[in-house]
Amino acid sequence: MPSTVHLTILGCGTSSGVPLIRCPCRVCRSKDPKNQRLRASAWLQYRGKSILIDTSTDLRQQALRNKISQVDAVLYTHPHSDHVHGIDELRSYNFLQQAPIPIFGNDWAMDELTQRFSYIFDNHTSEGGGAPQLLANRIYAADYSPKKTLRVQGVPVVPISVQHGSRECLGYRIESVAYITDCSYIPENSLDRLKGLSVLVLDCLRLEKHGTHFNLDQALETVSRLKPKKTYLTHLGHEFEYAKWAKKLPKGVSLAYDGLKIRAQASGK
Ligand SMILES: [Zn+2]
Ligand SMILES: [Zn+2]
Ligand SMILES: [Zn+2]
Repeated sequence: MPSTVHLTILGCGTSSGVPLIRCPCRVCRSKDPKNQRLRASAWLQYRGKSILIDTSTDLRQQALRNKISQVDAVLYTHPHSDHVHGIDELRSYNFLQQAPIPIFGNDWAMDELTQRFSYIFDNHTSEGGGAPQLLANRIYAADYSPKKTLRVQGVPVVPISVQHGSRECLGYRIESVAYITDCSYIPENSLDRLKGLSVLVLDCLRLEKHGTHFNLDQALETVSRLKPKKTYLTHLGHEFEYAKWAKKLPKGVSLAYDGLKIRAQASGK
C-alpha cells in the first residue's frame, strides 16, 4: 500500500537566523513571515513515526509552532551549534513518552555531542532539572556504503555523505525525499544516491561563494545534475527576499520557508 513521506521545514535559516539581531537590511526588517527564518532543521513523519533531523537552537519554538507531539528518533547532520543547541528540549518528549530517545549521527556528530553535552551522556544524574535521556547511535561509513539503507524505528533512511568545508556532514534520503543541509561539495558516489528524487531540500547560504556552504550558483548546478522534480533551498541568509526570488529562480526550484510541508508518495515497500 503506498504511503506518504511528510517532511516539514521547521527552520530554513542560517546559523544566525533571519532577521539577524539588529540588522537594518530590507529582508531583516520585512514583515513577510517567509523572510523570517529559524535555525535549520526538519521534521519527518512516515510510517507512523516522528523523526527530527537536527535539534536546532530554536527547537522549542519549532515544536510548539508545528505541534510536534512525539519524537521517536533524531537524525543529526553534524554538530555545529545551530543544528544541535536545542538538544535539551528533547526532555519534554522524555517526560511525555517515558522512554529514552535514540539519536543518530556520524563520528564527528557523536564525538562532539558526547563531549559537549557530557551531562547527558555520562550517566550520572545532575542535581535538579534532569538531563535528556538519549541513546547515542553511531552511523559508520559502512552504513552509507552503496545500496545500504538504515532502519531507524522501522523507517528506511539512506545516509548521504557530503563535505561541509573539510568535515563530513550527513544528508538523509527517505524514499524519494532528500534533505541536504550544510554542504560545500557532494562526492560522486553520494550524487549517485540522490538520483530519481521527487523532492530535494538543499543548502544555499548566499550569492557569494563560501568555504563551507553552497552558494546559489553551486546549488543550482547540483539541481541541474540531479534533476529532482522539486527543489527547496534552505539554510538561507538575509540576502534572499522570498517574493523577489520566487520570480527569479528556475522552474522547479523555490526557497524553503519555515512551516513548509512537503509531501511525497512512497513506494510502500
Ligand atoms: Zn548550519
Ligand atoms: Zn539583514
Ligand atoms: Zn554547519
